Amino acid sequence: MERISWEQYFMAQSHLLALRSTCTRLMVGASIVRDNRIIAGGYNGSIAGGVHCVDEGCYVIDNHCVRTIHAEMNALLQCAKFGVPVDGAEIYVTHFPCLQCCKALIQAGIKTIYYAEAYKNHPYAEELFEQAGVRVVQVIVDPKWIDFHDTGKANLVSELIDKLRESGISEQEIAMYMQKAAELFPAQQQA
Ligand SMILES: [Zn+2]
Ligand SMILES: [Zn+2]
Repeated sequence: MERISWEQYFMAQSHLLALRSTCTRLMVGASIVRDNRIIAGGYNGSIAGGVHCVDEGCYVIDNHCVRTIHAEMNALLQCAKFGVPVDGAEIYVTHFPCLQCCKALIQAGIKTIYYAEAYKNHPYAEELFEQAGVRVVQVIVDPKWIDFHDTGKANLVSELIDKLRESGISEQEIAMYMQKAAELFPAQQQA
């Protein structure tokens, strides 16, 4: 049995949080972690009780949606609200943070930034991270950890390949499909 790593687990958690986003322009999730425990999480959305971009459309100024609070800021503000220290903590964000968030994260004492997708990575942000001794690491979640219907899909593909074999398709083509299936479902043993 293969066990999910902490890095994969926390990033998967941030991807899940991103699904709660209310802004249609970009869905971002962030989890703040200390001693391998999630101490706060956030996604980009309106101020609590405010109208949502998904309902009313974005409020765009200079090509930015100004209605939302960014995921990283929401996670930090949750800590501020409940008095949870973040000095020395790590953050897992689905997208590389914007310059404003980068500065806030450094100032709050976050020591490692894990991000999944590069997103307009600002060279000044990278410079600031280096100056502050903040580690920046890209973590891409392996889909095998977040697809809970993996086994069902793998079984269906396996069945279809058997049908193809019965239909008289060449062994060469069968091998190609089996190879593709093995790449998509590494955890499943293809018969
Ligand atoms: Zn918006
Ligand atoms: Zn931001």
